Amino acid sequence: MVRRNEGNMAQYAPHYDEEWQQKAACRGPQASLFFPPVTTERKEERLRREGRAKAVCKPCPVAKECLEYAIRIEEPHGVWGGLNETERKQVLLKRARKAS
Ligand code: SF4
Repeated sequence: MVRRNEGNMAQYAPHYDEEWQQKAACRGPQASLFFPPVTTERKEERLRREGRAKAVCKPCPVAKECLEYAIRIEEPHGVWGGLNETERKQVLLKRARKAS
């Protein structure tokens, strides 16, 4: 799975045929905002980068599909559907608690 290239979040995903991916608001060079850089990133830098990524996600017409996809495949990295990996884990925990 290629993660850091020009494109959109959908291009990082293992399945490229999901219809929602064609409508992703993160298409283009801003895709690098969605994953941490290869080099070290300080907390403040991460927060700033993620904030910019989440601002792209906020009006995205496929945010719900994107988030559910990332949760379904248990994507361990990046901002998907407006949530980072820690926030997605919290969603999973809440759902697990609700189901039990
Ligand atoms: S919700 Fe965010 S990460 Fe997902 S497709 Fe839209 S802009 Fe990209």
